[in-house]
Amino acid sequence: MKGIQFDNASQRKTYVGAVYEIGTDAIKKQILSEIDPEAADLHRSGKIHLHDLEAYGKTYNCLTLDLLKGFPFERFEQYSDSRKIMETFNYFRRMIVELANEQSGGMGFANFDEDISRIFKRCSLSPTDYNLITLRENIESFIDWINNARERCGQVSYYVSLNLGLSENDFGRAVSKFVLEYFGNSSPEYIRPNIIFKVKSGINHDPKDPNYDLFQLALSSTSRKMVPTYLLCDSAPNINVDASKIGIMGCRTRVVQNEFGEDTTIGRGNIDYITINLPRIALEIDSMNRDSDTEERIRLFKEAWLETANSVKLSLLDRYNRLSQLDVEDFPCNSAHNLWLGDVQNCRSLNEIFKNGTLSIGFIGLSEAIEILTGKRFYESQETCDVSLDFVRFMRQTVDRFRKENGLNFSLLATSGEYISGRFPDLDAKLFNHPVIEKGFYTNSFHANVDSGLSPFDKIRLEGPFHILCNGGCISYVEFSSAPLTNTLAILDIINVAVKNGVSYLGINFPVDSCLSCGQSGVFDQCPNCGGNKIKRIRRVSGYLEDLEFFTKGKKAEVATRRSNK
Ligand SMILES: [Zn+2]
Repeated sequence: MKGIQFDNASQRKTYVGAVYEIGTDAIKKQILSEIDPEAADLHRSGKIHLHDLEAYGKTYNCLTLDLLKGFPFERFEQYSDSRKIMETFNYFRRMIVELANEQSGGMGFANFDEDISRIFKRCSLSPTDYNLITLRENIESFIDWINNARERCGQVSYYVSLNLGLSENDFGRAVSKFVLEYFGNSSPEYIRPNIIFKVKSGINHDPKDPNYDLFQLALSSTSRKMVPTYLLCDSAPNINVDASKIGIMGCRTRVVQNEFGEDTTIGRGNIDYITINLPRIALEIDSMNRDSDTEERIRLFKEAWLETANSVKLSLLDRYNRLSQLDVEDFPCNSAHNLWLGDVQNCRSLNEIFKNGTLSIGFIGLSEAIEILTGKRFYESQETCDVSLDFVRFMRQTVDRFRKENGLNFSLLATSGEYISGRFPDLDAKLFNHPVIEKGFYTNSFHANVDSGLSPFDKIRLEGPFHILCNGGCISYVEFSSAPLTNTLAILDIINVAVKNGVSYLGINFPVDSCLSCGQSGVFDQCPNCGGNKIKRIRRVSGYLEDLEFFTKGKKAEVATRRSNK
């Protein structure tokens, strides 16, 4: 469908996709005409971005499922062993399909391995050889399905995140093993689901740990497929939380602290997020204060950000209030399976449920903003590095204040910026002239520029301190020039340095090109095996693996600019 700009790299250009997209655009326009005019103007002008705008007041963003609370154990008890296993995955499939129609974003399994083992235990299933073979087959078929299925009229693939690695019993270990082996050995076209390996000393990190073999399997899979990514349970942001209670949702969303109960990810999600365009604010300050010194420009920058953040807060509250006024019947899958924390089946108002969710204020282009204000990239001197960290700390303190003043779970999100990484500079270019706009994309959250050429360890040390501040979620990437393949030690070294430097969540990236004629993979423009030039290019820029052909304009520009960290 020529001429249609897709917001999301996983969308496909078909007739139904076009109809869906046109409908979405119409709803977005209508919503912008109905909400607070100030927020609508900020969004239209590209100073902020209201994500999933078509869902405004209709649904929340994402959820880590509380899987066990509503699981139909009684029904399962009458099944044969192999049917119990098969029906468990059928149950997951049905839930994913239904849930995808009543929420706008992804869904997470915080402990895919342990939860399955608990279901099996409650269903009196033993880890016999036969049952383990059946489990392997069902897991492989489940992964096939997630990778290939398309939701919403067949347009968008399911954003499912499987967190695993901690379960130490036979079934739990088998789940992690089968997932990692199958995905790790799959062809480059396998890009779903999102798999997150939870690294924890005493369980899997050290050679004497019971799940050390699974960690090795994870490293081996990452070295070929970039998947899994790593949730570092022993790093500063996570060390004080029970590792079984945390998980990554979607590309980086982290929901842990709760004003209304214990710290946990399970049964909770992000309600809504809005991203603030930091380079825009910096460009405005720069254009009006050319002669001021850096300190004064930074002060004005903070002041202007705060003004925007106040508008963003009001918009998040408005969206939250509209959502809370809906009926339980608007969420049939949630009410059937009781997936949220609390009791959605017996609540008086949805506020009792959704208050457990987070309201995130995101940011993009910290590096460009600092470059506009100081003339230097933030990692080029200790001084600009300190200024950047101080600014992110200021954002976090403000978000914490919003949390306290409003009694809701506000959090600071290091936005990935899939669509906005190109939308923001396009709009800024209409108003300003500055070299940082010209490359056609803004850098992800607090990341060093993709062409920084920093060594992997320097990049980790630079970005680590930002992780604890971004309590709504963040990720750091290390970029290799090609697949490290058998060099799992290189990945292990990076993980260890990341744990020490406070990195909460880590991904290893490298380009993967795959020849569509013969299946050869590597990094090439022409296949070294058969000479073919029909090449599929798999890259990760927004937390998920994607096919480069379907990337948004901004992300294509980013990929073209990337340099490896070596
Ligand atoms: Zn070939």
